[in-house]
Amino acid sequence: MFRSEYEEVPAVELPIHEAVLGRAAEFGDTPALIDGVDGTTITYEQLDRFHRRLAAAFADTGVEKGDVLALHSPNTIAFPTAFFAATRAGASVTTVHPLATPDELAKQLTDSGARWIVTVSPLLETARTAAERAGGIREIFVCDRAPGHRSLTDMLATAAPEPQIAIDPVEDIAALPYSSGTTGIPKGVMLTHRSIATNLAQLEPVMTARPGDRVLAVLPFFHIYGLTALMNAPLRQGATAVVLPRFDLDTFLAAIETHRITHLYVAPPIVLALAKHPAVAQYDLSSLKHIISAAAPLDADLARTCARRLGLPPIAQGYGMTELSPCTHIVPSDRTEDAPPGTVGKLLPGTEMRIVSLDDPSTDVGAGERGEILIRGPQVMKGYLGRPDATAAMIDEDGWLHTGDVGHADAGGWLHIVDRVKELIKYKGFQVAPAELEALLLTHPGIADAAVIGFYNDDNNEVPHAYVVRQPTATDLSEGEVMTYVAERVAPYKRVRRVTFVAGVPRAASGKILRRELRDLQEQRRVLE
Ligand code: AMP
Repeated sequence: MFRSEYEEVPAVELPIHEAVLGRAAEFGDTPALIDGVDGTTITYEQLDRFHRRLAAAFADTGVEKGDVLALHSPNTIAFPTAFFAATRAGASVTTVHPLATPDELAKQLTDSGARWIVTVSPLLETARTAAERAGGIREIFVCDRAPGHRSLTDMLATAAPEPQIAIDPVEDIAALPYSSGTTGIPKGVMLTHRSIATNLAQLEPVMTARPGDRVLAVLPFFHIYGLTALMNAPLRQGATAVVLPRFDLDTFLAAIETHRITHLYVAPPIVLALAKHPAVAQYDLSSLKHIISAAAPLDADLARTCARRLGLPPIAQGYGMTELSPCTHIVPSDRTEDAPPGTVGKLLPGTEMRIVSLDDPSTDVGAGERGEILIRGPQVMKGYLGRPDATAAMIDEDGWLHTGDVGHADAGGWLHIVDRVKELIKYKGFQVAPAELEALLLTHPGIADAAVIGFYNDDNNEVPHAYVVRQPTATDLSEGEVMTYVAERVAPYKRVRRVTFVAGVPRAASGKILRRELRDLQEQRRVLE
């Protein structure tokens, strides 16, 4: 068993809005959030005041403790105000991918039991359609302006009193992001106020952003990595988050130059762009001090090339998952030089890890040997909403969460992630659940059976790869038709990007897809190509 070498930090038993904004008054006129495109700024004093006002307006409208509010928006400077207002009003926030289709959003609304939606006008049609399909939505608010809907900005003018809601940080759910975990379809991950707030405190001794630092918030806030590293952590520390709605290389590079960004928290595709793209040379990126990459595997050579090109210390990796609020490992910012290449770092304070044999999960493997990673600590989720069986399958009786990731650690505790034994595919850091795509493929009249696994393309990006069995009547079904069928029905990041027709999908007697066999098939074909 591995224990953190850092001194344990006490659990933070505060509502998340207090844990993050507790020092907002002290930071006063410091910019908390800057719109990276138009420069609009929200100071700490404003963020504190705005979220309290909006909480009052929410409560006055009928938002009650235990309600679920869906936050369906790209990154904007209004996002944190909406998030903290909702939690202060006692609601749990279910964050939604802004590119979700109406059906995908409707599923999340239904599953989470959402009663309220906060969206932005460009996404309003999706939100309306989804709300109709799901039922149960009492009102859709917009961050900007749209006819027929109340705008958050206007709601700040409310005269209603600030709600005084008693929140139990240990039990009450602050965030309800969706993740498919190790198997099946996306599920609501119950993250309590305490688990998220404590994870921020666990990161504090090993992450560097401090007052005066400027973080570029380009990864989406709806994903737990963005929510923690780009929103909660900088705001808790009095740093400034410069917010971009999406990744566009030129806008991103221009924002680093204009806003003198010091810290980047990114996923591997952005490291690739920084390492290789010619446009990088046209911008002054000399303000950068530290780059952290997480959410998907980062190639050690690529990391080195990127750091060298930018004249920076080695890129630090972090590791975690939605079910872990999210972080368990990071390369401490003062240890980047002595971290072995490719490592995802050391255990955060107060976190324990076991690495168990893949053949015999009751035995722990030795230093340097690979096995499944198990985690125990205050950041472990409360469970999956309404799915006790899925929760029990993931967190054992002793409190160990089985990550489904395969790795090895050296005697010093530096962890390397080398594989996955779970179904999950990560496309550019975004989750794609094979079970969801398989169910969709089976709705095609020409498809008799289907299985989806990840495929690493030439850029080392993992993409969904479908193995499809044609119906006897559909012998002319083409790869393109299969891809189009999926593309028309899912958010763009979930598209199937490779198709192989097979005579049968390997299944166990139970019907379970034997993914290992498909991976072997993929490997054989890769050798032939
Ligand atoms: P999510 O819940 O969307 O954050 O996805 C969590 C999963 O992303 C983990 O279980 C890993 O499979 C993968 N992951 C996260 N960070 C890393 C990393 N630094 N290296 C390799 N895989 C990672």
